[in-house]
Amino acid sequence: MNSLLIPENILVEKSVIESQLVRNIRRNLRGCKMHVVDHLDGAQNLEAEESGKVIEVIDFRGQFLKPCPGTRNYICCGYRILHFGEQCSIGCNYCILQAYFSSGRLRLFANWDRMLSEVESILRKNPDRYFRIGTGEFTDSLLLDPVTEFSRLVVPFFARFRNSILELKTKTDHIDNLKKLDHGGRTIVAWSMNSPAVAAKYEGLAVPLEKRIECAKLCLKWGYRVAFHFDPMIFYDGWEKDYRKAVDLIFKNISPEKIVWISLGCFRFMPPLKGIIEKRYRNAELIYGEFISGIDGKMRYFKDIRITMYKKMVKWIHEYNPEVCVYLCMESPEIWKAAFGFNPLEKGGLPAILDLAAKSKCGD
Ligand code: SF4
Repeated sequence: MNSLLIPENILVEKSVIESQLVRNIRRNLRGCKMHVVDHLDGAQNLEAEESGKVIEVIDFRGQFLKPCPGTRNYICCGYRILHFGEQCSIGCNYCILQAYFSSGRLRLFANWDRMLSEVESILRKNPDRYFRIGTGEFTDSLLLDPVTEFSRLVVPFFARFRNSILELKTKTDHIDNLKKLDHGGRTIVAWSMNSPAVAAKYEGLAVPLEKRIECAKLCLKWGYRVAFHFDPMIFYDGWEKDYRKAVDLIFKNISPEKIVWISLGCFRFMPPLKGIIEKRYRNAELIYGEFISGIDGKMRYFKDIRITMYKKMVKWIHEYNPEVCVYLCMESPEIWKAAFGFNPLEKGGLPAILDLAAKSKCGD
């Protein structure tokens, strides 16, 4: 684990001091300082604080399983988020979480028993529904896994249910805990991919693309399913050559039959993120592209740029294998039609398409 990602100070709510999560942190981070507080309200200050170096461990009171915050008028994939923690210290310049959370501190939820019983109850009450569940929306799924061992809890848990799959989405190489787990074929390990230039310039402490692919190969060896996400794709001079290289890197190493899906999404952001990026990073060119405000208020590249990028990516991927499931994240039916030649509604809707892809690769 990159030493810059290792937390130094842990703030723990008193009610979860005996939790499995805190025990794991103590065991794996012997040098860290643990501070116990009655209740964490965000006001606790630590000397020489550096956000990424502080973890807050709390007794979470909210709903653990939530629908992905899709946007009206765009086609949503019907994903569900297992909300196990918040924030990320990898430091991608474009990361939307910078605007999403007011605090830069990592926050982990320690009441795992309630988390699992909530999920179990939903899965059991809806045996005829299929749940695609991910943990990588409000943080990176494996960022702190060497410390928390969260994967050891959830991977075997999801192996027990036939009406769900778990997707762990990451830009790290923190896969060691996955090696010997009983996953039952129901966990997909996914890497966010980008062009080599974008990864090197904007993706902070993320591991290089080659390392992500090496990890994907190992996960395949251990029987996991894999997926890739090109999101956000950044438009710049020379993007075609670079993104093509990233597609080649995947298919030169991974057999297409083993890939559950590949998603594509062009860079988009709520306007407040622009100021944050400008202030935080000197090389902020990524926010000065040709953007237009979408119906959801997010800034997006002009349609023709998005269509061109998607069309080419789909073409390059399908040249390797036309059967690979490729989908767009939060795009309009018009863009779908232009990029793929069809609107997902003509094929039963995007959730149905992805359910089918998951079932065919992970078992029904
Ligand atoms: S890895 Fe994901 S969550 Fe973490 S900073 Fe990068 S974009 Fe944000």
